[in-house]
Amino acid sequence: MKGTILSGMRPTGKLHLGNLEGALRQWVTLQDEYKCFWMIADWHALTTSYGNAQEVKQNVLQVALDFLSAGLDPEKSAIFRQSDVKEHAELHLLLSMITPTPLLIRNPTVKEQARDMGLIGGDEEMVKINYGLLGYPVLQAADILIYKANFVPVGKDQLSHLEITREIARKFNFLYKAIFPEPQPIIGEYPLILGTDGRKMSKSYDNCIFISDSPEVIREKVGNMFTDPRRIYRSDPGHPDECPVFLYHLIYNESEISEIKEACQNAKIGCVECKRLCAEALVQRLAPIREKREKLEQSPSLIFDILGEGARKAKEVASATMEEVREAIGAW
Ligand code: SF4
Repeated sequence: MKGTILSGMRPTGKLHLGNLEGALRQWVTLQDEYKCFWMIADWHALTTSYGNAQEVKQNVLQVALDFLSAGLDPEKSAIFRQSDVKEHAELHLLLSMITPTPLLIRNPTVKEQARDMGLIGGDEEMVKINYGLLGYPVLQAADILIYKANFVPVGKDQLSHLEITREIARKFNFLYKAIFPEPQPIIGEYPLILGTDGRKMSKSYDNCIFISDSPEVIREKVGNMFTDPRRIYRSDPGHPDECPVFLYHLIYNESEISEIKEACQNAKIGCVECKRLCAEALVQRLAPIREKREKLEQSPSLIFDILGEGARKAKEVASATMEEVREAIGAW
């Protein structure tokens, strides 16, 4: 094994193609080379969904189903629910004692998330947000450091989060004892997946195609997708590089890319037909995941057993780290 990895996703609903192509596919390959901890981050989900705790609870099962059907293997990795390993909360508390508030206020993601929620209008209003949201990078640091993870798979836009973890680790190591490695990013080359309206795929925009969508739903969603805004009439030449549908062809329909590009640019194909081809390619590519998911859905108790076993494995490591942390701090 090349080292330890921790990553996770918030159970705010079923996972979509952005989650699949932007993370899960890479995780599946990493689990063969690294000791991996894949977390369903239900405490993190409460930072923005504290009023919908029941929903978060139900979504845990959905995310676990998506993890497993996409190919994460409980024999190779620990797949677990964050709140089943209470040591994360204890380490979060202890790390919060040494984390300067400006480090959190400067975090661009918190600002963006808070604006999305309509909570604040500017930097000076950061004091209005709940600590859970402001402090989530500290919980994230605890999630990573408690497994002494050497690596965290991230997109380029998430490097600032990891830098906060590294900074907190450095401070702990300096103040008490060098317990934590400074985790390094594993930056994946992810294909760009846009939502059906051409914006970033996001549940909050209601523009997602979910991993678990049925073929009928996929066909309908792709059929309603935005296309090249400059192509008004069927006879207009298209600009595939400006069309979200073409991005899907690039990922899911490699064998027909050149023909479709040429046909679009020369108005030899209409968008309705092009979307039909795209939907069929997508349906076919997702078929193995969908079939596995349908089988797993029949046995929810098996999924909870897998999460229980994952939590047991995670807890073993987390509680050993906490022993070291308590001893290093020396207050007990
Ligand atoms: S033909 Fe296809 S690629 Fe071209 S604009 Fe229409 S949907 Fe997009």
